[in-house]
Amino acid sequence: MDIDKNCVYLVGAGPGDPDLLTLKAARIIVVAEVVVYDHLVGNDVLALIPPRARRIYVGKEAGNHTLSQEKISRLLVELGRKGGVVVRLKGGDPYIFGRGGEEIAALAEEGLNFQVVPGITAASGMAAYAGIPLTHRDHAQSCLFVTGHLKDGSIDLDWDALVRPRQTVVIYMGIGGLEEICRQLMAHGLPAATPAAVICNATLSNQRVVRGDVDTLTRRCREAGVAPPALIVIGSVAALADSLDWFSSQQMPREKYALKMVASGNS
Ligand code: SAH
Repeated sequence: MDIDKNCVYLVGAGPGDPDLLTLKAARIIVVAEVVVYDHLVGNDVLALIPPRARRIYVGKEAGNHTLSQEKISRLLVELGRKGGVVVRLKGGDPYIFGRGGEEIAALAEEGLNFQVVPGITAASGMAAYAGIPLTHRDHAQSCLFVTGHLKDGSIDLDWDALVRPRQTVVIYMGIGGLEEICRQLMAHGLPAATPAAVICNATLSNQRVVRGDVDTLTRRCREAGVAPPALIVIGSVAALADSLDWFSSQQMPREKYALKMVASGNS
C-alpha cells in the first residue's frame, strides 16, 4: 500500500523489542515529517525517525503528564491541518489502553485524514516472551485485559468477573495497586493458591518475571523491587512460565538487524 503523504497515522510501536514493530509501522515512520511519541516507545524505534523530522515528546508516566490528553488531541489536529506525514506513535497497540480512540475522534471531528496501524500489545508480547499463553485448552478458555488504574487513582474493577474459573486476567497499569488487587481477588473468592505473575519490561533485554500465587505475589514483587512498566497475570497459565520460557536464556544482540534493514532500504 502506498503511504498517504497527507495523513495523521496513529501507529502502535509494539511492546518494547523493536523487532516486534510491524513492517507497516516501520515503513511509515521512516518517511515521517513529524512524530508525536510517548515514553513507552523505545530508542531503537525512535532511531527510525528521519533526522529531518520534527520529534515531539508528549510522554505520560503515572502522575507525570507532560501534556494533557486534550492538549495532545489539539496538537494532532493542528499538525493534521498543516498536512504532511504526521505519526502519532504509541507503545503497544494504540487501541488497547492507549487513548488512541480519543485522539482519532478529535481528528475525525475536524474531518482530517487519518489511518490506524495496530501494534503488538504488551500482553501478547509478554505471553510470547515470558512463556505464558493467554489461552490454553487445559487452563483458560478466555482472557480479560483490564486496567488497574482509574482516572481518580482508585481501583474499581468488576471483581466477580475477574475471579471466574478457567480464564486468564491481564492487568495493565496495575503495579501500584498490586496489593489491593490481590486482596480484592481473594476476598471475592479467588483461591489463594491461584498462580500469578508480574512481568516488567516485557520483550526487552531487561525483562523480569516474578512468579507466585495471588497470596504471595505482592511480597515477592516487593522483595524483587519490581517497577513499571509491568503487567500482572492471574490464572493457572502463569505457572507455565517455568517450562515455556525460552527468552531469559537468550544472548541479546546489541544491534537490531531487522530494523536496520528497513531503515536503510528507505533512505
Ligand atoms: N497501548 C499499550 C498499553 C498502554 S498502557 C499496549 O497495547 O501495550 C501502559 C501499560 O502497559 C503499562 O503500565 C504496563 O502495564 C503495560 N506495558 C506496556 N509495555 C510494557 C512492557 N514492555 N512490559 C510490561 N508492561 C508493559
